[in-house]
Parts: sequence; structure tokens; C-alpha cells
Amino acid sequence: MAKKPKLPGDETSGKRNFLMNFLYPIFRTVGTMMGMEGERIDDRFIGRNNRFIAGSQKKYKPGDVLLVFPHCLQDWECPHRLNADIHNCKACGKCSMPKLIEIGDRYKVSMRVVGGGSAARRAVYDRRPAFVIAVACERDMISGIREAMPLPLWGILNERPNGPCKNTVVSLDRIEEALAMLINGKPEMAETGKRLKGEKEKSTKND
Ligand code: SF4
Repeated sequence: MAKKPKLPGDETSGKRNFLMNFLYPIFRTVGTMMGMEGERIDDRFIGRNNRFIAGSQKKYKPGDVLLVFPHCLQDWECPHRLNADIHNCKACGKCSMPKLIEIGDRYKVSMRVVGGGSAARRAVYDRRPAFVIAVACERDMISGIREAMPLPLWGILNERPNGPCKNTVVSLDRIEEALAMLINGKPEMAETGKRLKGEKEKSTKND
């Protein structure tokens, strides 16, 4: 079997590794045994992971940043394959992809649309970024952060108004904020990908 290539880390890698690969499994097991909602535990750990990264105040070149979007942000019935190239989107307006592409292009970062964890891993190993911003649900985000270690991965959670894996949405503000912090060094950051009150108009829609 081919050896897994080593990914680059940052100065928060040790703390994040301890958090996600030691503390998280313990808290998840004990918390769910005590009746806590699993996704709430996941949400807190993703937020803590992001806070550690934000604390480093490290800036990255646009060429070192990879934005990973889940396939479920794309309209369920769209015939165009964005997994090969996100710019295959025809901007028909049925989903949020054109807005996401506009943000990524404006910051000059690479973007990939992936259909699951294996495709996300492949995108990271192909592209070899120094930093990843990923949009995903709690479960995929936790496994993505743990598998990408020591690579810093900033997690932005999607929302599932149509149920899991179908026409999901994400806050555009969260993506802009993460890119502004990483590339321009703008400090104010929200700790999780959850949409804040009052920013509905800037969130993506899949009508
Ligand atoms: S806007 Fe959405 S549905 Fe329309 S072409 Fe682009 S990805 Fe497909």
C-alpha cells in the first residue's frame, strides 16, 4: 500500500492533535453516554479547533489555501460536474455555487467540490495546500480535521434545511471572514461555521 504523504502543519498542530485525537473521542463517548447531543459536542470541538488556529495569527499566500466544498451545496438536479472543475458551473442561479466561486476567485485561492471524505483527502494530497478551509456537516468535519492533522483545517459547518446531503447551504460571511483572516490578517473571526442571527440575507439559498 502506498505510504500516506506527510502534510505540513503549523505551530498549533500539537494542541489541535491533542484536542481532536485524544480529548475528542473521550468527550464524545462520555458525553453521549450522559445524554448530550453528539452534534453539539462536535460543534464545540470544531469551534475550539478554529480558535487554536485563529490564535496563531498566521497569514498565508492565496496559492497555499484550498477551499473544499461538499457536493451537496450544488443543486441536487444540476447536470454539470463541478467535481472535475468548479468553474463548470453555468451560474443558472439555482444554487449558491456562483457566489462561492466569486469569493474564491476574488481571493485567488484554489477550490474543489468533493463528493465525500475520500475525494476530499485526494484533493488535499493532490493540491498539497498549507491551509484548508472546508465546508461540511459535523460528522464529516470532525473526521476531516482528524485525518488532515497536522495540516490546519478551518471548519465551517453547513446547514441542512432539506435534510442531510441535499441542497445544503452555508454562510458566505463565514467563508469571507476565514479568507480575510488567513490572507489579509483580519483578526475578527467567528469560531464556528454556524450562521449568526441577522446574517440570513447573506447566507446561500437553494430555492
Ligand atoms: S448555479 Fe448551481 S445548479 Fe446552476 S449550473 Fe451552477 S452549480 Fe449547477
